Amino acid sequence: MQILKAGKPTGQKVAIIGAGPAGLQAATTLRQYGVAVTIFEEHPKAGGYLTYGIPEYRLPQEIVDYEVKRIIDLGAEIRCNIKVGKDISFDQLKADYDAVLVTVGNSKAKTLPMFEHNICTESAISFLARVKNGELQENELPDHILVIGGGDVAMDVATTLKKLGVSYVTDVAYEEFNEFKASKKELAGTRKAGVTLIDGYVPTKVATNVVTFKHRKLDAELTIKADKIIYAVGQTSDLTGLKIDLQHSESQLWSAKYETKDAKVFAAGDLVDGDQTVVFAVQKGKEAARVIMNTLGGVNHD
Ligand SMILES: Cc1cc2nc3c(=O)[nH]c(=O)nc-3n(C[C@H](O)[C@H](O)[C@H](O)COP(=O)(O)OP(=O)(O)OC[C@H]3O[C@@H](n4cnc5c(N)ncnc54)[C@H](O)[C@@H]3O)c2cc1C
Repeated sequence: MQILKAGKPTGQKVAIIGAGPAGLQAATTLRQYGVAVTIFEEHPKAGGYLTYGIPEYRLPQEIVDYEVKRIIDLGAEIRCNIKVGKDISFDQLKADYDAVLVTVGNSKAKTLPMFEHNICTESAISFLARVKNGELQENELPDHILVIGGGDVAMDVATTLKKLGVSYVTDVAYEEFNEFKASKKELAGTRKAGVTLIDGYVPTKVATNVVTFKHRKLDAELTIKADKIIYAVGQTSDLTGLKIDLQHSESQLWSAKYETKDAKVFAAGDLVDGDQTVVFAVQKGKEAARVIMNTLGGVNHD
């Protein structure tokens, strides 16, 4: 059923970089206004973290695919496997389109220096993307995996590991339980899945697969030997090849928060607001589309 309708063509065209929830919603809104939209996405599929982060047991991929299809049916073009800044230049997009909206999210894992170049470690978002892509090798997962982090992403990793049949999953978090970033629901689900949760410890030393932690407040040390280590210590943006200069601040008007120092370039979603939620990114994508419409010649806000 076609619920959304494309607006009368305005003759204008907008490029969107990144097919996560912010970019997809912006495309929807712009199509409703009658603007031609092309989304450039570096992955083979659209959806951002809906497709490459949130585990299947929480968000079935068929729901994401259904929503993406509705946006394509609305007339948005989604060009996958194109990394802007590498496969096509940012300047090219600026030359070819009336406006460029950057919604690239926070697609790069933050790391801890001690884990760099360690062959036993992998980032949470790399692991979750491989699970969703069906890229895990048979029998790849060993018996004991250590997860480091206390947010929702760490809980997703730990629970996914248990669902995949890993015997021992230990999650160690810097936060104490009362300050955990993960929602209570996620925390309860992780416990129920059989994950051992340890709070309040900071990793201080790693020797291949043996990690030493110190308690943040107590004079206590903990050493864990695991077969693999997955760290979930946050995400950051990768703006390689994208010449954007964000200029938003809390005190600015809401509309200015989507603008950049380049009058033709706009930004929205996790890239601007830090790690947020899907609903938040959708709202920001919609608002950014309205700001772009105002810049391109005005639109009513009904
Ligand atoms: C593991 C995990 C679980 C989560 N669980 C939840 C949850 O349960 N509920 C919730 O509300 N939120 C959840 N979130 C947060 C939510 O997914 C994000 O807030 C949301 O996806 C941000 O949307 P976005 O469009 O700004 O960015 P993203 O979803 O990150 O999308 C950005 C897109 O841009 C693409 N891109 C990046 N650079 C380029 C480039 N140069 N060229 C082309 N394309 C590019 C990326 O490939 C990606 O597809 C979770 C996040 C993670 C990582």
